[in-house]
Amino acid sequence: MTTAQLTSPYQHYVYAYPHKTAYRRLSDRPTLRSLWAAQDKSAMALYLHIPFCEVRCGFCNLFTRIGAPDGLTTAYLDALQRQAETVREALGDGEPVRFATAAFGGGTPTFLTASELERLCDIAEQGMGADLRAIPLSVEASPATATADRLAVLAERGTTRLSLGIQSFVDSEARAAVRPQRRADVEAALARIRDTAIPVLNIDLIYGIDGQTEETWLRSLDAALAWQPEELYLYPLYVRPLTGLDRHRTDTHGPDPAWDAQRLSLYRAGRDHLLARGYTQQSMRMFRRTDAPQQGADDYACQSDGMIGLGCGARSYTADLHYSFDYAVGMHEIRGIIDDYVTTTDFAHAEVGYRMDPHEARRRHLLQSLLQAEGLPVDDYRARFGTTPLDDFGPELHRLADRGWLAEADSAHLRLTPEGIAHSDAVGPDLFSPAVRAAMAAYERK
Ligand code: SF4
Repeated sequence: MTTAQLTSPYQHYVYAYPHKTAYRRLSDRPTLRSLWAAQDKSAMALYLHIPFCEVRCGFCNLFTRIGAPDGLTTAYLDALQRQAETVREALGDGEPVRFATAAFGGGTPTFLTASELERLCDIAEQGMGADLRAIPLSVEASPATATADRLAVLAERGTTRLSLGIQSFVDSEARAAVRPQRRADVEAALARIRDTAIPVLNIDLIYGIDGQTEETWLRSLDAALAWQPEELYLYPLYVRPLTGLDRHRTDTHGPDPAWDAQRLSLYRAGRDHLLARGYTQQSMRMFRRTDAPQQGADDYACQSDGMIGLGCGARSYTADLHYSFDYAVGMHEIRGIIDDYVTTTDFAHAEVGYRMDPHEARRRHLLQSLLQAEGLPVDDYRARFGTTPLDDFGPELHRLADRGWLAEADSAHLRLTPEGIAHSDAVGPDLFSPAVRAAMAAYERK
């Protein structure tokens, strides 16, 4: 790693560890039945992935395609149903199988029509056995697809959190991020969402857009705050390889200290604005209204529990293997993977993945806890692994402390400092294992 990379606050958003670019084809194609046989299945997460959007935002590297030719969404739901049946069978009935949380993500799940969303809920309920009305259910939406009929279905089927990708309330900034939308349409979508009985509204906003100033950024934040969202996610803009913004970029891909400084300064302004208005910071990106209802399941811990992902861009996690299907960012490749998925009849094997050894499991626990504002209780770590984070990651933790990013490296509770949280996207990659780092570096983008 170069010095410039080490000091750049914007290296990698760690929302899952290891990243999918570290996954590789599994030559032994293990059966799902064997993978899940010895796992605790009493409080799992369920994720259904819908890889369709009306537009492809310039910053987006998620696994999604623009639009769907006639019949493709039906074929996709047919494949999801086949996959659900196979996966549910592989989980077996020898012990309780229970989902503690569920989420529909994408892409844009609300790209589906109201009746297709009914079918999606049926697949989760009847196919997988998830009791959607009894557990937290989070759904992602875009302003144009958050129509009254779709929202009514989602509310009736038990959605507890609706997340709306807005990015900016300033039309020219939305255009600059290649997400063309009109403020009036965004406001109308928010009104429709607030008219439903979905308890938690999350709004996603982006900072670091070309032409964005502190004044326009705070204007967007205030426009969002007018709806009193229970949650707000503030994302730094990244220009990632093969995305729309990357293709339009004329400069080099080297470090950009001026842009780093702009993002860091907008981050601080946004954070302080929300902290002063009754929000608490959960992580670098996430803020929750202090009086909002708690949304997590009582008995679900993302550090340790299993996850079942259905759909061609979803991952699944057992304690020993993280797996999914093939991954791509380029449009042509994504379309090919979706077309393969909808014709797949054998979903009984894991195809692509990363094997987790005990050391990687410790790293994952450390990363996923430390990047939360509340940090990592050392006793929890010791109870799970029999060691302390300092035993396992002393040099890394001392390095963070030396930079002023870790509060009291040897206390009973490891927590990032406010500057550490501001630098989460540098802290995270610094904790990747050499093996994961090497696999990510060797990944061929497509
Ligand atoms: S940001 Fe959301 S709406 Fe935009 S292309 Fe990506 S998944 Fe689709």
